[in-house]
Amino acid sequence: MPIRVLDKKVVAQIAAGEVVERPASVVKELVENALDAGATQIVVEAKGGGVSLIRVTDNGSGIPADEVELAFERHATSKISSVADLQSIHSLGFRGEALPSIAAVAQVEMVTCAVGEATGTFVSLEGGVMVQRRTQARAPGTTVAVRQLFRNVPARLKFLKSAATENNHIAGVVSQYALAYPEVAFMLMIDGRKTLSTSGRGRLMDSIMEIYGLETARQMLEVKSDGWSGPVEVSGMVGAPTLSRAGRDYLSFFVNRRWVNSRLLTRAVEEAYHGLLTVGKHPVAVIALSLPPPEVDVNIHPAKSEVKFHNERTVFMAVQKAVRQALVEQMPVPSIGEVATAPYAPPVQREQEIWNRVAVSGRSPQPAVDTFLPLTASLPVLRVIGQLMKSYIVAEGPDGLYLIDQHAAHERIILEQVKAQRARQAVEVQGLLAPATLEVSPAEAQVMKWHLTELASFGFTLEPFGERTYLVRAVPAVLGNGDWLSALRELLDAGNDKASWTEKVLISLACHGAVRSGKALTDDEMRALVRQLEQTAAPHTCPHGRPTLIRLSAGQLSREFRRT
Ligand code: ADP
Ligand code: MG
Repeated sequence: MPIRVLDKKVVAQIAAGEVVERPASVVKELVENALDAGATQIVVEAKGGGVSLIRVTDNGSGIPADEVELAFERHATSKISSVADLQSIHSLGFRGEALPSIAAVAQVEMVTCAVGEATGTFVSLEGGVMVQRRTQARAPGTTVAVRQLFRNVPARLKFLKSAATENNHIAGVVSQYALAYPEVAFMLMIDGRKTLSTSGRGRLMDSIMEIYGLETARQMLEVKSDGWSGPVEVSGMVGAPTLSRAGRDYLSFFVNRRWVNSRLLTRAVEEAYHGLLTVGKHPVAVIALSLPPPEVDVNIHPAKSEVKFHNERTVFMAVQKAVRQALVEQMPVPSIGEVATAPYAPPVQREQEIWNRVAVSGRSPQPAVDTFLPLTASLPVLRVIGQLMKSYIVAEGPDGLYLIDQHAAHERIILEQVKAQRARQAVEVQGLLAPATLEVSPAEAQVMKWHLTELASFGFTLEPFGERTYLVRAVPAVLGNGDWLSALRELLDAGNDKASWTEKVLISLACHGAVRSGKALTDDEMRALVRQLEQTAAPHTCPHGRPTLIRLSAGQLSREFRRT
């Protein structure tokens, strides 16, 4: 085929392919337009997974009658006019591509009325061409209805997932923008059913409650950078470590109020949770960054969903520090839930009841507000009273009774000790009196080869001894009296997940080196353990993210004994 310039229609469809990937992309563009128009109320409706209908109605500034046609021209925008403007974009849109792209792959109708104009305009487009135009009454604002999406692009249509999945993506987009703009009231109707709505009261906490629910909102901590991070301001909310999720869907980032995907920001947040969440778990976070527009390039992605920071390191540090600070300063100590005032019950039964609640509250803390005291990173000085069930240390603090899980607490201590030793390259090792042999399977042998140096850095001295046998000459001192063999086996089974390998070794050492539940401890041992726990950087959780201690406050005690 000879080279030739493609006809306008083909060009439009190719370009549309970049902007409109699926129904949710249409929703995103239309919602962004509504926000740019200063709307305070935005209604999104979807039918048939967004393929039959997507309609977005706003009460924004509207489009003047004589500009309506232009809005559907490619590269026509009211938001920038020069290259210089590209350096400091304050709007969500700027490419002038959304409306023409959507019109290229769907049937579109728009009713709009500009503030200050007496009447509105109705237009309808087929295949990107305007086929109707008339005046129509409307209050200021804009409604865009998009029907039969991708009917003229069968390849795209085939690629779409089930209506339920597409609906999920649509709900995702609306949720994210609702989180980014708490001052805007959003409503989402899917197949005629109200699936989401926010009040637009302007508080992020309200939006989080409306979108993620009360239980989640209750466990969110406020993030604030308070001016120490230079031009980058960080705000938002993050979940306490008790609120972990299996995936990264609950991480939202807004850069100058634009919803973006960002590996950098994801890493910064996850870094801040380091050691507080179980490996493989992810936090809940809503983080808004505000920085001077020239500091961030928003023009690197056709759907504008990625940005590039000019100073990535500053941004990374600012986010990581702000989140870490929020966690350390406000992290709640799980506390024994409010014990219901019950009629007299025999003491034994009563005790059991309290323990049941303790067990429950560890999993889903839902205590009365005053028991959710934010504690500073460090523990108060605790006085050890004794041991309970050979598993828990009972201690008195300035503000109540503390129960410390001896195993979890010791895990935290070991984890931090080993980390510190490694940082100083001074890991304590313990030589074995006689070298032990360790036989490994072919798969384990492979893992062993990959990680021999890393294992050595933790204090394992392992020498190849034949094809699938190793001689173990020394082990990390923390495992010296413990079960180093199980730890080693567990690591070899863990496979070759490079990213989390170091973390896995640390956790495994902590777990196998820590004193077991069910072991009687002397008073001295308990006191030493509590002193060491007080000195750790994150005394409130074990490396798996479980609590190391719970507290029964003085207030709860007096309520329980009906002294108040
Ligand atoms: P962009 O948003 O990049 O400018 P669009 O194709 O999305 O490009 O929109 C083109 C123009 O149409 C916008 O610049 C804006 O002036 C106008 N417009 C689109 N949607 C709305 C709306 N909901 N309210 C007011 N004006 C709108
Ligand atoms: Mg736009």
